[in-house]
Amino acid sequence: MFKKILIANRGEIALRIICACKELGIRTVAIYSEADRNSLPVRFADEAICIGPPQLGLSYLNIPAVISAAEIANADAIHPGYGLLSENANFAEVCETSGLKFIGPPPEVIRLMGEKEKARAAMKQHGVPILPGSDGVIASEEEAREWARQVGYPVIIKASAGGGGRGMRIVRAEEDLVALYRQAQQEASAAFGNGDLYMEKYVEHPRHIEFQILADEHGNVVSLGERECSIQRRHQKLLEESPSLQVSVELRNEIGDVLSKTLSAVGYRNAGTIEFLMDQHKKLHFIEMNTRIQVEHPVTEMVTDVDLVKSQIMIAAGSKMQDVLQGKVVHRGHAIECRINAEHPEKFTPSAGKITAFHPPGGTGVRIDTAAYEQGTIPPYYDSLIAKLVVRGKDRNEACQRMARALEMFIVEGIHTTIPLHRRILADPEFLAGKFDTGFIERFLGKKAELVG
Ligand code: ADP
Repeated sequence: MFKKILIANRGEIALRIICACKELGIRTVAIYSEADRNSLPVRFADEAICIGPPQLGLSYLNIPAVISAAEIANADAIHPGYGLLSENANFAEVCETSGLKFIGPPPEVIRLMGEKEKARAAMKQHGVPILPGSDGVIASEEEAREWARQVGYPVIIKASAGGGGRGMRIVRAEEDLVALYRQAQQEASAAFGNGDLYMEKYVEHPRHIEFQILADEHGNVVSLGERECSIQRRHQKLLEESPSLQVSVELRNEIGDVLSKTLSAVGYRNAGTIEFLMDQHKKLHFIEMNTRIQVEHPVTEMVTDVDLVKSQIMIAAGSKMQDVLQGKVVHRGHAIECRINAEHPEKFTPSAGKITAFHPPGGTGVRIDTAAYEQGTIPPYYDSLIAKLVVRGKDRNEACQRMARALEMFIVEGIHTTIPLHRRILADPEFLAGKFDTGFIERFLGKKAELVG
């Protein structure tokens, strides 16, 4: 087992990784920017090293600074968390060549899944259902027109290097294609330094459903079931739950089996998430794979009792799946997570500043993952996620009731948060009945505007 792990991240996920290391008896090294000097990961890690000024490029994304910190601290492994360097194949490679174990999949698999049209091809080859679309990157506007005719409108143009919903455009008619293609290309070049685009059939009123897998270094892959992530704003998740009301035991097993075979064939290692869209006939279609721990991993932990971060570390250290899982994975009850962002609850504009009051809820079945505290400051430089409120109930109904009361008892003052929005979602009849798709938030906010107007 590792003796010391460096955590190349900040905020709640850095603290989450520290928790896993403490339980495994592994020493931790936090790295921090000058803006995070007074953060809880710095306080709770065994060692902490300042790696630069607040700007991401000069600190958390500065690969030589991160590697030097690991070398100075004499760490044997690096956990990248999510975001930041977690899906950077080059970083994973530098770790390996510096004699540091990267806690994640091998660089070549990160690269394969990071080029989304190549990931589509790999999934298709092994029998995972994918949406009709272009085979590979689209070379020109003419080719885009050809593909769209073959696939049939509406289509969605997406960035090969995409993430965070950027570089995507929905095209409903041929006359709009060229303008939207150019917009997507510009947005993708600006966001990712890569303007490559591909195309998929656009699914009307889909649900976003994803599967959590774990793969050890001995070729064993298991699926830990699904998460329902359709409550999104601007194609980014706000609330997630597990299981999904739409996924039958047969469908769960069928997808689990095909994913195990596929990921074993592509040489996948460690934790990963395979994202699907469900159409109105309840068919699942692959859209992308994330080669890291997800923000919403706690809902799977709550219903399976598997600690995913400890599993990642044990797998990276060479443990076999049977030792990681210690038996068959059993799903119990229902879990929901609300992402508490430091944002205006309806305009979604960031809200940094000092937290003047902070009272997280507790009680049966409630879990909070956060690095926020009273009198602490939310710096303006980073992701707006400040806490994850997660509950488990014996069924969806109890989980919803528990979440509603926990949100009522969650006090954050001094900054805007998404707590008021979540309170209203938890009181919405459409949400409570489980009848929603990825368009829920737009309809929900539109409905409210009508009432006010
Ligand atoms: P990103 O990596 O930028 O997050 P994804 O491919 O994961 O992009 O898609 C993000 C979201 O965009 C999905 O959860 C869904 O709401 C919407 N979306 C993506 N592809 C399609 C599609 N083919 N049809 C309908 N909606 C889609």
